[in-house]
Amino acid sequence: MVNPSVGATSQWSCPSNIALVKYWGKKIGEQQIPANPSISWSLSDLKTTTRVTIKDSGNFGFEFVLDGKAKPSFEPKLHEFFQRIMSYCPWLESVSLRIESSNNFPHGTGIASSAAGLGALACCLVDLETPMAESLDWQKVSFLARLGSGSACRSMFSKPAVWGESTAVEGSSDLYAVEMQGSIHSSFSNWEDCVLIVDAGEKVVSSTQGHSLLSNHPYAAARFEVASANLSTLVSILREGNVAEFIKIVESEALQLHAMMQTSIPYYLLMRPNTLAIIEAVWKFRAETGLPLCFTLDAGANVHLLYKCEKKVDVMNFVESHLLTYCESGRYLCSSIGGAPIRITNE
Ligand code: ADP
Repeated sequence: MVNPSVGATSQWSCPSNIALVKYWGKKIGEQQIPANPSISWSLSDLKTTTRVTIKDSGNFGFEFVLDGKAKPSFEPKLHEFFQRIMSYCPWLESVSLRIESSNNFPHGTGIASSAAGLGALACCLVDLETPMAESLDWQKVSFLARLGSGSACRSMFSKPAVWGESTAVEGSSDLYAVEMQGSIHSSFSNWEDCVLIVDAGEKVVSSTQGHSLLSNHPYAAARFEVASANLSTLVSILREGNVAEFIKIVESEALQLHAMMQTSIPYYLLMRPNTLAIIEAVWKFRAETGLPLCFTLDAGANVHLLYKCEKKVDVMNFVESHLLTYCESGRYLCSSIGGAPIRITNE
């Protein structure tokens, strides 16, 4: 580790990710430790690009700009992040940073800008402290990213990423995510995610607030058990290739996530009427055509439609003819599954 000097700079893009088995709830009294293991696919086309420059030496400080403009509402989360990581990156204590970032999708809407954003920032910081390294220490990147936003630790890997200890995944940890080892069945290569933008506005309850409501939730213990079991089953499914079983777990996980929100104290809803209309249309379409597609939801109203690329024409015809009517301004964003952070150089 070196102490980066004034003027040193690093720029990375980092993908968002979509959880197949959801992280919702933290272990009480611990720092960003998940109550159950989760698994996700990264979304290579939905990403944050961040540049960090060492502006000055002296005391720690930072300025943050999003799309070229100051964004004070993002600063509290960043302050907390830096406080939590300071002992792991002590060089930060004597520098001030300029952080310039942009997301290529709306933030605060359930497409995990927090994951891509904090992931990109963690890449830049590890890059700055190890400028001569051939590759980043991905375990450290994932560890730091987790301290900014739990799900961010899963955005580092092209293969499915598992965060949280599980007997089903060797080397899994509560402290950082790991890439699923071994082969994944060909039925799960080449999938895509079409995110149907039901509502591009920021959610009424942030994910941070949502997680905290799990600490006195009447169904929390049962949910954590079911999620752990679902993770083990899904890992086997990804190896063995049973798409029908994959769909059952993924859709059930999405509905359980929102059921936990709806039964929190106080309760709240992030789904909108059009979220439900899309889910019902997907079920009808699948029953009629037998095509391998399913929905999932993050903590937001927008619907992620997952499908095999080879069926893209049929699925997109369905989206255009039946689902656009439920999307805000007919808007959707498609992404390939997979992809990892990329260093951006000026050459
Ligand atoms: P989302 O579904 O977009 O992840 P959250 O409410 O969970 O919604 O997270 C949004 C928060 O993530 C923002 O309020 C901000 O604090 C943080 N965030 C989003 N984009 C970035 C970025 N590019 N850089 C740093 N932090 C970001």
